[in-house]
Amino acid sequence: MPKVSAYEIATGNFNKAADIMGLSDEWRTLIRTPFREMKVEVPLHREDGTMTVFSGFRIQHNGARGPFKGGIRFSPHVDELEVRALAETMTYKTALVDIPFGGGKGGVNVDPRTLTQMELEHVTRRYVSRIHLILGPNRDVPAPDMGTNAQTMAWIVDQYGRQHGYNPAVVTGKPLELGGSPGREQATGRGVVMVGLAAARDHLGMDPKEIKVVVQGFGNVGMNAALLFAEAGCTVAAVSDISGGYHNPNGLNLEEAIAFKNREEGDGTLAGYSASGVEFVAHEDFMGLDCDMLVPAAMESAIHSDNMDTVKAKLIVEGANLPVTPKADEYLKEKGVLVVPDILANAGGVIVSYFEWSQNFQQYRWSEEDVNSRLERIIIKAYDDVAVQMKRHEASMRESAFALAIDRVVTAEKLRGAL
Ligand code: GLU
Repeated sequence: MPKVSAYEIATGNFNKAADIMGLSDEWRTLIRTPFREMKVEVPLHREDGTMTVFSGFRIQHNGARGPFKGGIRFSPHVDELEVRALAETMTYKTALVDIPFGGGKGGVNVDPRTLTQMELEHVTRRYVSRIHLILGPNRDVPAPDMGTNAQTMAWIVDQYGRQHGYNPAVVTGKPLELGGSPGREQATGRGVVMVGLAAARDHLGMDPKEIKVVVQGFGNVGMNAALLFAEAGCTVAAVSDISGGYHNPNGLNLEEAIAFKNREEGDGTLAGYSASGVEFVAHEDFMGLDCDMLVPAAMESAIHSDNMDTVKAKLIVEGANLPVTPKADEYLKEKGVLVVPDILANAGGVIVSYFEWSQNFQQYRWSEEDVNSRLERIIIKAYDDVAVQMKRHEASMRESAFALAIDRVVTAEKLRGAL
């Protein structure tokens, strides 16, 4: 598989938009250069007596529009360049949906599936004890990402509090019991569905009941998006995870698949899942499955030069960050496939993170209906703003979204007197 790095994808996204904006070289350098990068060692004494040393990162890309904001990823693929690319993506995501944050990202190059719960807590606390000085409710506010969840955020709040005093607003995506927001867990998937259905209506003229969806990834984003697409009346024809793809052209029984994945004796994946009408699909054939809408919701670089010509969907909605390589993006554009870019499609998570942060400051809890309707208002406003830019620049949805976001960051930098 051709591995195009996350950083190359982020560079491609930026350059195309900067070109259509006519952005100067000085401004390109200023905007792209991260504000601060921290790299720390994270040693772990394993329960079996051995020791491993992981590398941890927190990269603050741009804070012109507000505190740095972005998730923490635990994955064996984490390295400095990946975190830098993801941090920059957050800067444009928060700017595009116009919430008062900058962009940042963190990560540890650990595979959480190989650790016990106690070891995982230990790694999280060690990492936080080394980066806590650059975090804070008005400085840098982490959240969950791949390999982390509400429990990880609870440990972060606790560890941060030991040094600075308890303050739930230092991190979002917390459990409800510790100041989390109703609707945060489903928020990224919910946002994917909101913009996915809007794009299918406006660009394909399709109602939810007519849409066949294929979702790559069955983690927090993919699973919730699949469930909500099905709830809206779409046919969810296939989902996949690390074990492979599972396809039923007439629609999967998602509750059954989820129950299988979560079964007591299982390994937390869909490995071995079978049901009547369901066929197994190898990873290399997954993107070519017949559908109207394809939702890559797993890793970066999922659609690339080796599989781009197998894509049958007319609409791609980026649930993951950076899932389409620049070459594949160019090819899909030529072919007339509409790609809803990550900074719009998966912004639901950080939008509800903003609500969580606001609720923490207010010390007041909103209802889930309130959260969901405010989420819809913000994400659909961004979708409409992008549509205006598409007409203005005669550009793709990705180029238009990035141009709008970069322009907002440049404006904030100018107002603050960066130069
Ligand atoms: N990790 C998520 C993202 O990539 C959420 C970030 C946040 O809520 O701060 O957008």
